[in-house]
Amino acid sequence: MNKHKAIATPTKTKEILNKYGFSFKKSLGQNFIIDVNILTKILEKAEVTKEVGVIEIGPGMGALTEQIAIHAKQVVAFEIDQRLAPILEETLMEYDNVSIVYQDVLEADVASIILEHFEVGQKVKLVANLPYYVTTPILMKLLMARLPLASITVMIQKEVADRMAATPNTKSYGSLSIAVQYYTEASVVLHVPKTVFMPQPNVDSAVLHLEIRDKPLVEVNDEDFFFDLVRACFGQRRKTLRNNLVRHFTDEYTKEALEIKLQEANIDGTRRGESLSIQEFADLANVFSG
Ligand code: SAM
Repeated sequence: MNKHKAIATPTKTKEILNKYGFSFKKSLGQNFIIDVNILTKILEKAEVTKEVGVIEIGPGMGALTEQIAIHAKQVVAFEIDQRLAPILEETLMEYDNVSIVYQDVLEADVASIILEHFEVGQKVKLVANLPYYVTTPILMKLLMARLPLASITVMIQKEVADRMAATPNTKSYGSLSIAVQYYTEASVVLHVPKTVFMPQPNVDSAVLHLEIRDKPLVEVNDEDFFFDLVRACFGQRRKTLRNNLVRHFTDEYTKEALEIKLQEANIDGTRRGESLSIQEFADLANVFSG
């Protein structure tokens, strides 16, 4: 790897900014990486090798894209900001295994792009330094679409990474933890200092690794109902499960009927939502929608 040529250095980044008169758009979450070591660590955590195809979201000036191109078989990146097109054309000129799709990833048909660019049976992973203003919608879109991805390794806001990987009885555990862990095995694999970004973000960052499960963690009869119930149980975090259920189902079930449901699921209604495992939420949901 030609470290001295890397895009991810303060000097090279400033040089490109000046050459193209590029100004960062805060509204697009444009915080570019200027430290190649952090990028190689991300790729190590993602276990990207020459057999792996990679989807990236938001290549920016190509700092991470370049490292993916060096380590992976191929990379396809979605970028919303057309102003970056001439820059990426220059910075990634020497890599013939890179394709950039200029689209909002939230609007894009990611499944078709995967089919179009990668061979059937090819292992595909997602690796990105995500725009923080849309982290959750992007990740939930990708997970719910059940794309043929082996894993997702992303730099995101630390607080959101902690929530996505949280376990029961912690402050960060909530409906987002359950939504993510239903589809994946989640872990925070790296804490990242603000100094590796230009401009520096206002929040702390972390790298989240999601290993996609072959099938969801728990079996539920009705997914929509399950997620709805989970959200209801965290509705007012300081209240008991029973109180949150009564509030949520006020038009459908009496207090007594709800007590019977809790008993059927073998769950004590005086507990708080944050103490329930994902399996217990599934048991409770299935008692209603069995
Ligand atoms: N990968 C580069 C790096 O690490 O230096 C840039 C990362 S920067 C945090 C996020 C990038 O995502 C920006 O280039 C931004 O223009 C792009 N972006 C923002 N919203 C997007 C969206 N909805 N779809 C695709 N790209 C988006």
